[in-house]
Amino acid sequence: MAKTHYKLIILGAGPAGLTAGLYAARARMDHLLIEKGAEGGQVLLTDWIDNYPGFPDGISGFDLSEKMSAQAKRFEVNSLFGNVVSMDLTEPVKRLELEDGDPLTCDTLIICSGAHPRPLGIPGEKELTGKGVSYCATCDAPFYRNMHVAVVGGGNTAVQEAIHLTKFADKVTLIHRRDELRATKIIQEKAFANPNIDFIWNSNTTKIQGTEGVEELHLKSNDGKESVLKVDGIFVLIGVLPNNEMLPLDILKADDGGFIPTDLETRTAVPGVMAAGDIRSKEVRQVINAAGEGATAVLAAENYLTNLS
Ligand SMILES: Cc1cc2nc3c(=O)[nH]c(=O)nc-3n(C[C@H](O)[C@H](O)[C@H](O)COP(=O)(O)OP(=O)(O)OC[C@H]3O[C@@H](n4cnc5c(N)ncnc54)[C@H](O)[C@@H]3O)c2cc1C
Repeated sequence: MAKTHYKLIILGAGPAGLTAGLYAARARMDHLLIEKGAEGGQVLLTDWIDNYPGFPDGISGFDLSEKMSAQAKRFEVNSLFGNVVSMDLTEPVKRLELEDGDPLTCDTLIICSGAHPRPLGIPGEKELTGKGVSYCATCDAPFYRNMHVAVVGGGNTAVQEAIHLTKFADKVTLIHRRDELRATKIIQEKAFANPNIDFIWNSNTTKIQGTEGVEELHLKSNDGKESVLKVDGIFVLIGVLPNNEMLPLDILKADDGGFIPTDLETRTAVPGVMAAGDIRSKEVRQVINAAGEGATAVLAAENYLTNLS
């Protein structure tokens, strides 16, 4: 009969989960790492990563994902391809239900389910997703060769991806609801120096219009002026929402945004359950701290198991 109980289960194989898997495997813990998609998580949506140490020339998101995955495999991380659809964390033995296959149980759980891009929630967005509305410049930029695209957002991701898009598009218009960017200064400087990026400040996109694909954006400035911008595509890069649909948010005491609060050791409100990476309630969501928290979470899990026995 297939094994169904583990001392440790790690949910999600983005940077947090892959690091947790690496630490658990090296510590020879009885563990299982569950992932429903490709290992790497949101890093696979990222064109180029310049701010992860150890890569002086930067590294593509794809290559970083592959390297993290290969490093975990070198220590024989125990991985399962599966979608966790719900869980019961009310008993000391935690129970996870999978979309396919038998339920799994564990003594300690590390939630690394991450996040996904936040939509604008405006008319036309859903209908034109995949037809000019995109949340991933890395995936879709090559479709916009010699065209005009808009990027919505003002943080690191939006500005960095706007720069990336200029490798393909003739013109990139960055639309931001404030009068200054939130992105790190060095990224801002690159964007301001790029002749193919222009900026529309203090404005929100209120509607996306087009028949076969995106044709125009309706904008409203903070002082109420309305305008129309003709574009061939729009990249929505305005932050992330938690991947939390399978989590019991009440007992994990999720915050208002649905993220999971923890202490500095990544321990949640439920004994034996840790949360690491973008699913955690926190200000900064980056690869570096996701990986760090994955490591911290395994050490917290080890301590929990030691105190159990
Ligand atoms: C476009 C873009 C550009 C970015 N650029 C940078 C950058 O340059 N530098 C930087 O440091 N950070 C960047 N980030 C942020 C960085 O990618 C995230 O902070 C990091 O990936 C978070 O890692 P994580 O492991 O917490 O979650 P994720 O990467 O979101 O991984 C979570 C994993 O859990 C899996 N999962 C979720 N639910 C389930 C379930 N029910 N069952 C099984 N598996 C599940 C998902 O499939 C996913 O693989 C960028 C993000 C985006 C979107």
